[in-house]
Amino acid sequence: MASSDKNYHMTPEEFRQFGRAVIDWIADYYEKVESYPVLSQVKPGDVRKTLPENPPEKGESVDKMLKDVEQFLMPGITHWQSPNFFAYFPANASGPAILGDLLSSGLAVQGMIWATSPACTELETLVLDWLVEMLDLPRKFKSDSTGGGVIQDTASSASLCAVLAARERTSNFQVNAKGGNGKLVAYTSTQGHSSIEKAVKIAGIGKDNLRLIEVDEKFALQPAALEARIKEDLKNGLTPFFVCATVGTTSSHALDPLKEIGEICQRYQLWLHVDAAMAGTAALCPEFRFIHQGLEYADSYCFNPHKWMFTNFDCDCFYVADRNILIKTLSVLPEYLKNKATESGAVIDYRDWHIPMGRRFRSLKPWFVIRHYGIEGLQYLIRKHVQMAQNFKQWVEADPRFEIVAPVPLNLICFRHKGGDKFNEKLLEKLNNSGELYLSHTKLNDQYVIRMCIAQTHTEERHVRTAWQKIQQTATALENE
Ligand code: PLP
Repeated sequence: MASSDKNYHMTPEEFRQFGRAVIDWIADYYEKVESYPVLSQVKPGDVRKTLPENPPEKGESVDKMLKDVEQFLMPGITHWQSPNFFAYFPANASGPAILGDLLSSGLAVQGMIWATSPACTELETLVLDWLVEMLDLPRKFKSDSTGGGVIQDTASSASLCAVLAARERTSNFQVNAKGGNGKLVAYTSTQGHSSIEKAVKIAGIGKDNLRLIEVDEKFALQPAALEARIKEDLKNGLTPFFVCATVGTTSSHALDPLKEIGEICQRYQLWLHVDAAMAGTAALCPEFRFIHQGLEYADSYCFNPHKWMFTNFDCDCFYVADRNILIKTLSVLPEYLKNKATESGAVIDYRDWHIPMGRRFRSLKPWFVIRHYGIEGLQYLIRKHVQMAQNFKQWVEADPRFEIVAPVPLNLICFRHKGGDKFNEKLLEKLNNSGELYLSHTKLNDQYVIRMCIAQTHTEERHVRTAWQKIQQTATALENE
């Protein structure tokens, strides 16, 4: 055999053997995930300096790679899958989602158009239709209606697509054709996610044309202030076109009043996008569907199964009420993608529903999750998280040294020690440095606030109890310093 004929590839037998080793490694990891410090304790540059600076000349074994993962990378991992992870919003994984992801990697199809893997498109449409039913979303978001859903990588991409579609609807597709005139104005609350600012920047609307509307004492957008600002902008010759309302803001889980905002959007013909990135999953349970009251006014909506619905990152479900606007905004059809199925008009080509052309078989993840847990299992777990959060809130309220600083409609508790900003900063630092749990912070009413989000796949009552004891003990130690 000439040396050029040498087989460098992993054989199916080797793949089977190493694949089992990797699955075993992952299963072992989950068994002991609690024993790691939740927040990685390394310093900047620590990970890189343990790794060889140059790539290997000759191929290496998977065994060696796994050993290096263990020895050099694990210290630099923050354990998002630890049951003691309470920071930010979670990025949940689960066994079925990991397996769905693995299958997606194995099949390795690129489903940019229906024809390049019909199953990739059709399963995605089915799962997104299922989720409309499961969350009791407006019927217009279903594929057999005027709208439909698509899986995006993140809520940030979904918001960008919403801004682009809204821009084109308002400009009668003239910005797509000729560029903007700098007069379009977008609105969200002061608590809207930073991805809205990013979206208006990318879409050429300009940060100066994003209005951050005041919120009420519950940190929810004030409809009257929104309408006043729209009127003022109109008076100044500007063109309001887009409002993003948030269901479950990042800082405090505030719920913007969708109905009132929707009525305003209808009055002024503005696109209403509803960002329910984290909280949307709660609507799996009928008793939490109050969060979506008024959603029927929305032109687009998104939520992230990759936050709370046990589906590995990345998986954002983005819905539009009128798919034609989105498609007309994003579709470009070069000769090399033309095909009979597309021309027949009988299929969905999801490449026209988001920014990238190429796409993975992502729907395998939520499909495996939904089939594994069933609606009943998902509802049980979401209810459990909310119940644990409500218990935690009561424990905080019962300790006179602490205060709750925002309503707790679901599973995010914003609280602070009454000792002031510096005290809370120190408290958080000490807690996170302990490695026993991981919390994050925000500012509300200019005050430093600790956020505790109870939503990790494996969090049980005992983890929440231990976390509260640790918070109390650490506060006591700091008070005595
Ligand atoms: N919107 C809200 C309300 C969020 O809380 C977040 C992230 O926490 C996002 C959007 C951005 O999510 P993604 O990482 O999917 O872009």
